[in-house]
Amino acid sequence: MNVLIVYAHPEPTSFNAAMKNVAVETLSGLGHEVTVSDLYATGWNAVAGPADMTGPPSDGDRFSLAREQTAAMETGTIAPDIAAEQAKLGAADLLILQFPIWWFGMPAIMKGWADRVFARGFAYTTGRKYDTGMFRGKRAIVAATTGTSADTYAPDGIDGDILAVLWPVHNGLLRYTGFDVLPPCVAYMPGRESPEVRTTQLSTWADRLRTLDSTEPLFFHPASDYGPNERLRPGIPARSAVQRNV
Ligand code: FAD
Repeated sequence: MNVLIVYAHPEPTSFNAAMKNVAVETLSGLGHEVTVSDLYATGWNAVAGPADMTGPPSDGDRFSLAREQTAAMETGTIAPDIAAEQAKLGAADLLILQFPIWWFGMPAIMKGWADRVFARGFAYTTGRKYDTGMFRGKRAIVAATTGTSADTYAPDGIDGDILAVLWPVHNGLLRYTGFDVLPPCVAYMPGRESPEVRTTQLSTWADRLRTLDSTEPLFFHPASDYGPNERLRPGIPARSAVQRNV
């Protein structure tokens, strides 16, 4: 399969770099085609805006990012750096997002990769979301690191359930656009662990990559669980990371 690793860390000797390298080695060793988008090394521009389109604006009076993205996708005038990432993503069967958790989310450079690459007309459009998302058939997995322990990210931990912390990425970005989202691989506080624990964290990640095909995706409610107002129908118990019955 084709694998795209989008990697966001400014330091090549970081633990995130080590996880990225393990993924490249493990997946290449299994015969997969692996492509890495190293956002810091390539100086990725994280700021979405009018410069993302190379043609004249479809509305010269008022800038709408979604509308201009749509027009640019239709006319082939999306900026070349975005087009290159979209080509990689379009070819990928598996997307790996490799990042340190910064302020309970992805680093800004990766958020900006999503803002610009997941353009309207490429990643979503009217009537194409979740079960009918544009990227149905592709899988994705978050590989992340934290500064604090697994306990702090337990459901009753001070930082809250890691699946709730990652919900914006898992549901808002990946599931929204149709991916099957595999459970994340989180290496908790590698900076405070012993070298032995860090080595185990890397081998756990390699094991996860070797067993992707037998890994159940995370549960997301199917469209049939929702009523016309897009809320869970009465009697459907909420089962996802953050939804709850009220
Ligand atoms: P590094 O510090 O690069 O590495 C950890 C250790 O692993 C180092 O000793 C390194 O030498 C070693 N190492 C590197 N390669 C290998 C290898 N091959 N084998 C074994 N060891 C190796 N944390 C949270 O939990 N929640 C937050 O909201 C949060 N917000 C943050 C916001 C900002 C702006 C910043 C800067 C940090 C934040 N943090 C937060 C902490 C951050 O998540 C962690 O510092 C980060 O995830 C650790 O990963 P790293 O790759 O940077 O580790």
